[in-house]
Amino acid sequence: MKALRFLLLGLVIAALLPGGMPAPRAAAQGDVFVPSDKSPAKNPCPDKGKVPDGDYAAFKEMLKNVFAKESGVIEDIDGQVKGRVPDDDERAVEVEFYVVDEEEFKKEYSGDVDSLYPEKSKASLEQDASNIYGAKTAYTYITEPGGDGKQKVKVKVFCKDSLRMGMIDGSMLETIIHELVHAKLYVMRILRPEKAPDDKGAFPFPDHDEKGGNDGDDWDKGGDKGFYDEVKRLLQKAKKNPKLAFVPGQTLNGEFAAVIELYDVYGLLIGTAPVAGRGTIVLGPAGGSPDSPEIPIEIVAMELTSTTPYPVTIREDPLRSSTGTIRPHSGSVSFPAAGFFDVFFDYQVSLVKGKGGNRIAAVVDGWPPFGMHFAWDGQMPGPLPPPDVENPPPQHMLAAALSPNGVVVAALILTDPDSDGDGVTDDADADDDNDGTPDAEDPRPRRLSFRAVAPGVARD
Ligand SMILES: [Zn+2]
Repeated sequence: MKALRFLLLGLVIAALLPGGMPAPRAAAQGDVFVPSDKSPAKNPCPDKGKVPDGDYAAFKEMLKNVFAKESGVIEDIDGQVKGRVPDDDERAVEVEFYVVDEEEFKKEYSGDVDSLYPEKSKASLEQDASNIYGAKTAYTYITEPGGDGKQKVKVKVFCKDSLRMGMIDGSMLETIIHELVHAKLYVMRILRPEKAPDDKGAFPFPDHDEKGGNDGDDWDKGGDKGFYDEVKRLLQKAKKNPKLAFVPGQTLNGEFAAVIELYDVYGLLIGTAPVAGRGTIVLGPAGGSPDSPEIPIEIVAMELTSTTPYPVTIREDPLRSSTGTIRPHSGSVSFPAAGFFDVFFDYQVSLVKGKGGNRIAAVVDGWPPFGMHFAWDGQMPGPLPPPDVENPPPQHMLAAALSPNGVVVAALILTDPDSDGDGVTDDADADDDNDGTPDAEDPRPRRLSFRAVAPGVARD
């Protein structure tokens, strides 16, 4: 009996001592900003043509990697929320991610906010939900207080083809980060209900509006720059993790510029020509070791032309794979990353046709590698073997040789387009078509040709 009383006393003391309690659920992750993935394990999207199971699974994996401690994103947001909210007002706020179709969203949204909009009928809230679903890829909102009196933030990602496209071109990462920035602001608003949303002392940046043209202006001037700068900052942080920088299956479909060099039979340079056109690069799933990952990359399509000083056409050789590798700095730091392609091509210069192949390499400090020069290392390889249709060359094979009158791709650059011609290139532009809806939430952020689907090394 006495022993039992000692034991009970011990338990009471342990419970009272700091550190004697079990750690709060999300302490390692953030204890004010508490995100969770509430989307079902199995793909809830009814139209598997719009959102195939594989893309849904990849989306959940991406979300998991963003929430993981290694990405540093949640820790960063949590620290900043705590920096803004007085200690006495701090408490855990749930930030829940869901994937929903239109009917589900209408039901959930109208139920989640009805007491916040007493003037609106259920039917009008459902209509609001329907309009949001039609116009966006994802939506974040504050719920009414639940049974415990606490408000939550919910992020709804929609079962539209924008989810699939976002996984193909990698832009879903920006969508997730964008919604987390809304959520960051909304958690601060929940914890500081007495402050007006436009109180610049209480909140670090404004919620973005739906107007185009003010995205580069400061808050003082009614602009959204503060919001989009925060998205960029967190996106850069997330991309330090190779798992988030190099998403398997990611397809970059864009404008290429290159310089080709022409050689005579003795290997002497006889001329150069700038060429330009379009190309497609696909990323495969990481190999190598956890400390030193290797990401397979492949140019799956490319057609570059020029008319001066000679008519030149360079096409990726459909019979040989133009593969390569990206090697991130380490397993936990993406950049700088060493990358190369062994590019194989058919060429036509004036009336002369032939085949060529050579290695181009670059050290890249971001992905997509816009503006970075992949350059030929200058070595003159031996004579070109006949193309082996049965056995395409292995991935890491050194560049094949020049034929007489050979052609080399001496430099290759992916150019970052400026779809809306506003002087800000798409990679840096939060709203590529300047329609007011940021790319991260815009089902059609730029003209379709940039987002066309190409066969990929990791997608089948
Ligand atoms: Zn937004």
